[in-house]
Amino acid sequence: MYLCTRNCKNLRSMKVMKFGGTSVGSVESILSLKRIVEAEQEPIIVVVSALGGITDRLIATSQMALRGEERWREEFESMRSRHHEMVEAVIGDTDKKQALLTTLDDMFEQLRSIFYGVFLIHDLSPKTEAAIASYGERLSSHIVANLINGGQRINARDFIRTTKKQGKHVLDAELTYKLVRETFGIENSELRIENYSYAQGLEAASKTNHNSQSQILNSQFSILNREKVAVVPGFIARDRDTGETTNLGRGGSDYTAAIIAAALDADMLEIWTDVDGFMTADPKVIKTAYTINELSYVEAMELCNFGAKVVYPPTIYPVCIKNIPIRVKNTFNPEHPGTLIKQKIDNDHKPIKGISSIKGTTLITVTGLSMVGVIGVNRRIFSVLAEHGISVFMVSQASSENSTSIGVRDEDADRAVEVLNIEFAKEIVTGAMFPMQAERGLATIAIVGENMKHTPGIAGKLFGTLGRSGISVIACAQGASETNISFVVDARFLRKSLNVLHDSFFLSEYKVLNLFICGIGTVGGNLIEQIRSQYETLKETRQLKLNVVGIASSKKAVFNRDGIDLTNYRELMENSDIERLKNEVIGMNIFNSVFVDCTASPDVADLYQTFLDHNISVVTANKIAASGPYDDYRRLKQTALKKGIKFLFETNVGAGLPIIGTINDLLNSGDKILRIEAVLSGTLNFIFNTIAADVPFSETVRRAKEMGYSEPDPRIDLCGTDVVRKLVILTREAGYKVEQDDVEKHLFMPDAFFEGALDDFWKQLPALDADFEARRQQLEHEQKRWRFVARMEGGHTSVSLEAVGSGHPFYRLEGSNNIVLLTTERYREYPMLIQGYGAGASVTAAGVFANIMSIANI
Ligand code: ADP
Ligand code: ASP
Ligand code: MG
Repeated sequence: MYLCTRNCKNLRSMKVMKFGGTSVGSVESILSLKRIVEAEQEPIIVVVSALGGITDRLIATSQMALRGEERWREEFESMRSRHHEMVEAVIGDTDKKQALLTTLDDMFEQLRSIFYGVFLIHDLSPKTEAAIASYGERLSSHIVANLINGGQRINARDFIRTTKKQGKHVLDAELTYKLVRETFGIENSELRIENYSYAQGLEAASKTNHNSQSQILNSQFSILNREKVAVVPGFIARDRDTGETTNLGRGGSDYTAAIIAAALDADMLEIWTDVDGFMTADPKVIKTAYTINELSYVEAMELCNFGAKVVYPPTIYPVCIKNIPIRVKNTFNPEHPGTLIKQKIDNDHKPIKGISSIKGTTLITVTGLSMVGVIGVNRRIFSVLAEHGISVFMVSQASSENSTSIGVRDEDADRAVEVLNIEFAKEIVTGAMFPMQAERGLATIAIVGENMKHTPGIAGKLFGTLGRSGISVIACAQGASETNISFVVDARFLRKSLNVLHDSFFLSEYKVLNLFICGIGTVGGNLIEQIRSQYETLKETRQLKLNVVGIASSKKAVFNRDGIDLTNYRELMENSDIERLKNEVIGMNIFNSVFVDCTASPDVADLYQTFLDHNISVVTANKIAASGPYDDYRRLKQTALKKGIKFLFETNVGAGLPIIGTINDLLNSGDKILRIEAVLSGTLNFIFNTIAADVPFSETVRRAKEMGYSEPDPRIDLCGTDVVRKLVILTREAGYKVEQDDVEKHLFMPDAFFEGALDDFWKQLPALDADFEARRQQLEHEQKRWRFVARMEGGHTSVSLEAVGSGHPFYRLEGSNNIVLLTTERYREYPMLIQGYGAGASVTAAGVFANIMSIANI
């Protein structure tokens, strides 16, 4: 009999502390465990897992041996070294260290013999497998018992007993509880093995009185005035009848601890792991997941059942019916309060507590033409699956009753289909039912919270969020208890689903936009700088996080779904190309994403349709797509509309000036655009404003290029293409169908200048200077100015170089400014006038930024 004693005087409570694989997996963590345990003033029992990853490796090594692979020896040696290294690092006392290494080596020798046996005879029975898996905890518990002051290792197989049911080893609760109490010195007369139903359990739980139990423990302490801490290997057990080594299932150390806590009526069960408690989602998947301060047993159970690995699902029931709270804490951050799981939570208003998921889901659909007439279909489905030990974690049945879908784990799918086909063989033959259909490659997600039942609209929010992200739901179920809504999606959408849901249910204080920025020239570079400098302000004032997850130039790129450091992104960029860009943007499959194009590249514009098809909004300063073939432009707009995302290109015309947005607003309010007159080329306006007696035409073009007003190839401005594109875009946005070829062009330079290489163009340009100077003098004399004017009247479009007199609104248009006159049904007599900087990297970047912000505001 072992007595649970430590600092024995005046103790009133007792707790069981379980340390998981990572908590004993490294020198740092195991020393932290030592500090945590030794700081305890209350009596405690410590339960430990195997060193992190060891159980997986034991199983993998046994498979190698089974396949006759020599490699098992190396694996074995490396596991042995890992334990040796741990002991060398953490046990200071030489004698103690030597004795411990001898104990471990004895066990390793046994283990080697078992592996060798498997290797020789190519046979690995479940019994042998369980024996092998047990070594992880057997070894780790020896190390921990030697490490902590007063540690004494207790053999769990002496009291954790299992029995075989439907081919599976399950806990023999009655025997185990009795043995636990004997082992830890509690009178069995005090033993109460309740065979509660769950509901009774909860009720009884609330009435359990811990004081009486504390008395019992106290009396034990006063008998034995010793300082001892029991160290129990988790997970492992022994079969009640055969005595063979068994276990409680993967992750079962949590369960061992819960059983001990329940049997001894402990005051607290602590689960020490590698994260700050139970979190809103798996922090390994959702970086923004945060700790849930308190959870009810029911909520914790729902989350665990749906894959929240942090606590092994069977753990909750034994402590729940005894009303023993569970605290989940972080060995690596012991100061953090972690999560308290208990029966009832005060001041609990949050409808949703957490999201969890199961990856390997298969959906089996039982259906048929006249299934409604088949008696007891559901009873038969569930009975036959239960008989074969197949657990069903989700059921969805249409009220028409002619189809039932059942979610099972992938590993159970083939067997489930087989037994269901046998069960319904007769009905299948007569045609009343179809053979079972199994849909694989799915994932199940659950959102959980007890307050859901008091909060309408949760399902609407859930499915609305998924829909907007282009995720379709294959099946869904909500129990009448309304503590859980579960649904099945294609596994490829799992991460994205978790992200969008987490964002919409938990991060409402922050909205996140994930940006891919293509082009790091003057506009892209400016934009990135503006985002960097505005980041904190937007976070604080707008609760918006602009997360740049990808930056690409034509030859290089960097991608990081957690956000790229914008202070040194250029150094982070590595070789890349357009194909990789496309694959990364789509492959990242990230929620709320926006592709931002700051290039002038047709190849990049070609990607928009694919991105929109994948629910990625597009914001672009590149005019190619919106001014390209009308049908393509229309399809892009329609796709965005249908998907509830955005295709925005405000900076295509007038850089940062609000021209397209204004036209859209006018049309949306029922106005009609009758006429557009505009100077739309900042470059040309700059050129015609700068040209002077001492600044010849060729020099003005060069300056426009140097100052970043012109396109990278200024011929696109000079040949009017840029203005034509802008006019086409405005005309289309005003509601008319037009192609670039429809625009009537009256140009000011011979066509020959636009053919050939760019270098030749620069060389030939001064040849035009004399002619321009002559025309300029004439214009000066007439007190007129040149403006390259774009016009649209009732859908008819033209561009031409015009000489405007001093009375014209275009006359005083300075520098590179743009101006747009909109004559509409409402603004007929006095047209609306929009005027200002129409070119320049920083105003264009600001316009792109404004488009991004308008998406954030949806
Ligand atoms: P241990 O070895 O301590 O038993 P586990 O690996 O079994 O630890 O469980 C802890 C892990 O559970 C965390 O590292 C985390 O990735 C995962 N996890 C999944 N869902 C959740 C959740 N909702 N909250 C916290 N952790 C979670
Ligand atoms: N070591 C066992 C496993 O990895 C039990 C546990 O860690 O809880 O499954
Ligand atoms: Mg675990």
